[in-house]
Amino acid sequence: MYQFQSISKFSDQRQTLPKHSLRTYRSFPITSKRYIAIHHSLTATGSARAFAQYHVRANDWPGIGYHFVIEKNGQVIWCHDPGVMSYHVGNSNQHALGICLTGDFRTQIPTLAQKDSLRRLVAALKKDLPAYKETRGHNEFPGYSWKQCPMFDYKAVLGEKLSSQHISEPEANELLYWATLVDTHGLQGAGHWAYNRLRRFFNVTTPPKKDDANQLAYLQFLVAKGGGTGAWAKQEIASYLDANQILYLATVIHKSRLSLLANWAKKEIPNYL
Ligand SMILES: [Zn+2]
Repeated sequence: MYQFQSISKFSDQRQTLPKHSLRTYRSFPITSKRYIAIHHSLTATGSARAFAQYHVRANDWPGIGYHFVIEKNGQVIWCHDPGVMSYHVGNSNQHALGICLTGDFRTQIPTLAQKDSLRRLVAALKKDLPAYKETRGHNEFPGYSWKQCPMFDYKAVLGEKLSSQHISEPEANELLYWATLVDTHGLQGAGHWAYNRLRRFFNVTTPPKKDDANQLAYLQFLVAKGGGTGAWAKQEIASYLDANQILYLATVIHKSRLSLLANWAKKEIPNYL
């Protein structure tokens, strides 16, 4: 069961959408998908069914090009399993999962329901795709800078929620669980897994922290000695894992999810990831 399956307006049409009678898409493990590609359908109206029909009949493709279609009413249509290498971004097909919003955004704008569903779907996929790296517009993929797709500010749409988002209770539980694992194991084994979960949750893109107790102790020794080297060591320490601080901030969020203190902790925690 994927996280995205629990989106409220969700319809699994993998088995029912029109398909080519002879051709099938190749399939790879879910870890092949590192990117999410955002498209618009370039049609004023339409549906997953209509796009599938077009892709099969007019393009002679094995099936619909996208993994998901978000229709005007916000309904999320599931078209392919994540590992399927369908056609939507040329050479990047193997590594990119495609989401298409119905509409021609050269002249229209996405509906509120579509934007809301896009936020939910991308948030869920970030958790579902173990190798997730980045969400991009179609025209941000190699070879497609000429393409007028997706023609809406998807970054603003995805960011809108983040700034006003409250961390839900299950999320706060998860955060605390991950932070505890990092505190227990550092960046080894389960700690490393949990650390990556935390980074993904907070959209952290800076280089990962280092985890080397000996080196850290040495840097702390230099800080204590002061002077120019001490100042340098102080900066250097910021690039090392501080699992205690992460656990403290996660605990604050967990204890008082909606308070000002939790808001502060939410802003603070990415600095330590
Ligand atoms: Zn496109």
